[in-house]
Amino acid sequence: MSRDPDCIFCKIVAGEIPSFKVFEDDATLAFMDINPANEGHALVIPKEHVIDLYAVSDEALTRTAVTAKKVAAAIARTLNPDGLNLVQCNGAAAAQSVMHFHVHVLPRSKNDGLAMNWGLKLGDIDAIGRLAERIRVWI
Ligand code: AMP
Ligand code: ZN
Repeated sequence: MSRDPDCIFCKIVAGEIPSFKVFEDDATLAFMDINPANEGHALVIPKEHVIDLYAVSDEALTRTAVTAKKVAAAIARTLNPDGLNLVQCNGAAAAQSVMHFHVHVLPRSKNDGLAMNWGLKLGDIDAIGRLAERIRVWI
């Protein structure tokens, strides 16, 4: 399994630095975020070192998503939050600070003030359609 010796999440996988693990299997690990945006904020990672969504294998991504679902359900049972986001960041401009692919499992409350809900504002439908065509070419 690939590993980066300088990666903080690889060190967590190896047990070299402490973490509050909530779930582990052969391919994935889930642990609490030490800078929680809200109570119950957890992270799910593939154990193999991959930087981001562009690099992660379909299999590792699938395993990570399945673990995120389990962890989300357990957090929901524990805290009964008003809502819950799965968040995944790629690149510094998207607020990725740890370069090991991870999914945030983030419980939400109605008035938590987190600036992630950007509201609904109807876009330019023709422009959206044209952009969808340009994206589709690459899938
Ligand atoms: P991102 O900004 O999407 O790259 O998220 C990285 C997350 O990792 C942040 O929410 C950090 O609080 C969290 N984090 C960084 N180091 C640790 C650590 N040692 N244990 C738990 N969470 C961490
Ligand atoms: Zn890593």
